[in-house]
Amino acid sequence: MRTTLMPANVGSVRELRRPERDPAAEGRHLHPAALPQWRALLEFGWQERLERVTQLSLAFHEAAEAAADPASDPDARHAARQRANRIGHRTVIHRRALADIEAALTRLATGRFGRCEQCGDAIAIGRLTEMPQAAYCAECAA
Ligand SMILES: [Zn+2]
Repeated sequence: MRTTLMPANVGSVRELRRPERDPAAEGRHLHPAALPQWRALLEFGWQERLERVTQLSLAFHEAAEAAADPASDPDARHAARQRANRIGHRTVIHRRALADIEAALTRLATGRFGRCEQCGDAIAIGRLTEMPQAAYCAECAA
């Protein structure tokens, strides 16, 4: 273990490792030395989502403008309004994901990343790999 990496966090490192009684389970749970990689992964995902939200916002404004264009016929305006609604829903989903990633980055900064927000157990690595922003273990999320 590279304790020299972050001497100020030794307490939280112990905290993270404490419940690992089964050595076989060690590999399946978060290792403190891997935190920088998790941060990079989360930041990459955050950037991707942000770009998506930006694209969707532009598309939404285009559709909303077309829906309000008095020069186009009612059918075209109706279709544009529906398109704007669909884009709006997708934007909400991506904004929520963005907020989830931000919350995960906060947990990472405060030594709570990889711990279930409800029961405090370690979140399985497989689950975190699939969804690094996961705030709950599989049991609590079910
Ligand atoms: Zn849990």
